[in-house]
Amino acid sequence: MTEIIDEILRLKHEKNAVVLAHNYQVPQIQDLADFVGDSLALAVQATKVETDTIIFCGVDFMAESALILNPQKTVVHPNPKAKCPMAAMVDVEGLRLAKKETPKAVVVSYVNTTADVKTETDICCTSANAVKVIKSLEEDTVLFVPDSNLGLYAQRYVPEKKFIFWPGYCHVHQDISVEQIRELKREFPDAEVLVHPECSPDVIDIADFVFSTEGMVRHCSSSASKEFIIGTEEGLVHRLKKENPGSIFHAIPDAVCPNMKKITLEDTLNALRNLEPRVVLSKEVIEKARAPLDKMVAIGRQD
Ligand code: SF4
Repeated sequence: MTEIIDEILRLKHEKNAVVLAHNYQVPQIQDLADFVGDSLALAVQATKVETDTIIFCGVDFMAESALILNPQKTVVHPNPKAKCPMAAMVDVEGLRLAKKETPKAVVVSYVNTTADVKTETDICCTSANAVKVIKSLEEDTVLFVPDSNLGLYAQRYVPEKKFIFWPGYCHVHQDISVEQIRELKREFPDAEVLVHPECSPDVIDIADFVFSTEGMVRHCSSSASKEFIIGTEEGLVHRLKKENPGSIFHAIPDAVCPNMKKITLEDTLNALRNLEPRVVLSKEVIEKARAPLDKMVAIGRQD
């Protein structure tokens, strides 16, 4: 494994490439990445990249967003099979139909959507700024696409607006149960419970805090508590342990996104060697999808 990692590090330099990795990537990829973060942090980072090439270790929509925000770069997605099942729950035809049925609604799409869906979107958001994005809107009705759990969470803070929810969800967070959280809390009574807003409302109700993954990172480094139950995909726990060696972290059993784990060290090495498979989008899609992403980035984070 050391040889592969050494070769990746050498090729990064030779090919003038940067590796961006999501918080849910396997530990070895997080460790060799130039930047590790959540969707919003990665989108912001993509706009600052100075190298010719971005190797994007995350799921498909994230690599697309990197290209949309930085179209003059070569964006390589090491394993195109790494796709987000929640993003696949909405397609552009379905969204166009829903827009016809709700002409007064503003379309807020979670960044976990395809580039095509973003072309029919008014503004994107991430779990780090959904409430802030919705509070910024003048319209009274929001068509929230596709994560109904994130939409329900945001609605708690903007009760004056009417929400229409797309019936989508992240299976990893949806499967985190109240029973799992209660059991961990019984076992580790001093631990703070942090959960992601993609979790179901009943899990959110019993958590101490609700944060995006980047919000969890910030909270754990500043909290007086030194023990945490982490209600999100288990990959984040690697970063939390690395950045907070004096604290204890408990992952949720089986909270694993198989798609995030599809990108291997070998895929990353091949991506750097061949600068393939590249993310390709038409100029028209890039132009149309960029506007809602730019608005999202400009609003910044809430947590
Ligand atoms: S963790 Fe959930 S939202 Fe993230 S890529 Fe996996 S399925 Fe999609």
